[in-house]
Amino acid sequence: MLDAAMHAQLESPFMSAPAEIRCAIYQHLVTSSSVHVFLTPQGRPQVSTCIVPPTSSLVADWSRSMGGRQPNNARENDPTWIRRVRTPWGPHWECEEAYLSHDLDDMTNLLSICKKMYLDVCTILFERATINVTDLATLELLTRNPAEEAPSPSHFWNLSNYAYPLIQRLSITLLLPLAVYEALADVQDNQPGREAQYAGEDATAVACATWARACPAVCQLPQLRNLHVWLDHDGGSSWSHVRERQAVGIGLMGVLAAHLQARSQDKKLPPVEVLFNLPKLHPALARPETHYVPESPPPLFAIERRFRLGSHVKEGAGGFLRVRHEYDFPITRELALFNRYYDNPDDPDWDTGPVTEDEIREMEEYEKRLWEQGSDVHQYLKDITFSGLQSQWAIL
Ligand SMILES: [Zn+2]
Repeated sequence: MLDAAMHAQLESPFMSAPAEIRCAIYQHLVTSSSVHVFLTPQGRPQVSTCIVPPTSSLVADWSRSMGGRQPNNARENDPTWIRRVRTPWGPHWECEEAYLSHDLDDMTNLLSICKKMYLDVCTILFERATINVTDLATLELLTRNPAEEAPSPSHFWNLSNYAYPLIQRLSITLLLPLAVYEALADVQDNQPGREAQYAGEDATAVACATWARACPAVCQLPQLRNLHVWLDHDGGSSWSHVRERQAVGIGLMGVLAAHLQARSQDKKLPPVEVLFNLPKLHPALARPETHYVPESPPPLFAIERRFRLGSHVKEGAGGFLRVRHEYDFPITRELALFNRYYDNPDDPDWDTGPVTEDEIREMEEYEKRLWEQGSDVHQYLKDITFSGLQSQWAIL
């Protein structure tokens, strides 16, 4: 692939070799199955490797919050901890940290050699790897149809020229203000032109309008086959304060479904498998009319649920930032370790090692029963002391 603004590098034996030979060599060097695309503060698109392993979506983010995001012995105002908690990269915070620390792998090093190699490697990545996007501006950039763009003498940094025709797997991670979900929930139709209803220049209106524009563009990616959408809000209150049937079901899924329906009329385009990842619902807050609970009508696309990160950054007087623990459901999650202790009181390593998925599920079921019985779970937690835990635990 050659760009008019790019040096042909003909003095280089490697770069002047046929594209097929260069590609065969790249195949051995570029092994990343998942990469991030994002914009630098200067607005330039950047590509880096995704290092988050494909672990269980149920506990992936939550388990790392126990020992990963919090540096050892970190105080609540530790800048590294604050950055890890509030980053819009969400569960990909380690990927951001690897990029910021210049801990570059072979793939990322290849991208920095020259423009021609950058585009060679990007072409392979866009075709084969999952493309992770963690902000709406990058999403809009990648999904811009080059055929609808005005010709430019230099479009090297217009990455959509190379991404748009090739992307097969797209993963969108959005950590948005609660106000954005409220605005999405307040607009109840999913018809074309919906973006015109998001008038205004404030951050909420801009985010809603950007999604409304990006959504049909995503559905027009000619090679798209898999779309994964991870959502959360960036506040400390429960996810269940989001009216997800309206904000996600109509505002996001509804718009997607309408445009995928239009896409299905074009038989040349492959079908798209869509999966949403949302936080667990709080049993005391979720309602059939506003949330996807078992007794409500099913969503337009499959939803997988995960446990939500329990750390949040709060701003105090004078802009002082600090990390606070405010757990969404289940709020009794830390008792999983005590449960392990009482199962094996003679094991000296009872408090080491990550909490397992089975342990978390046990806590989930236990606390769910408490809420359904009408118990004051917050008071219940306060009443528990280490010495009294064993007797309380007998009800499990
Ligand atoms: Zn990642």
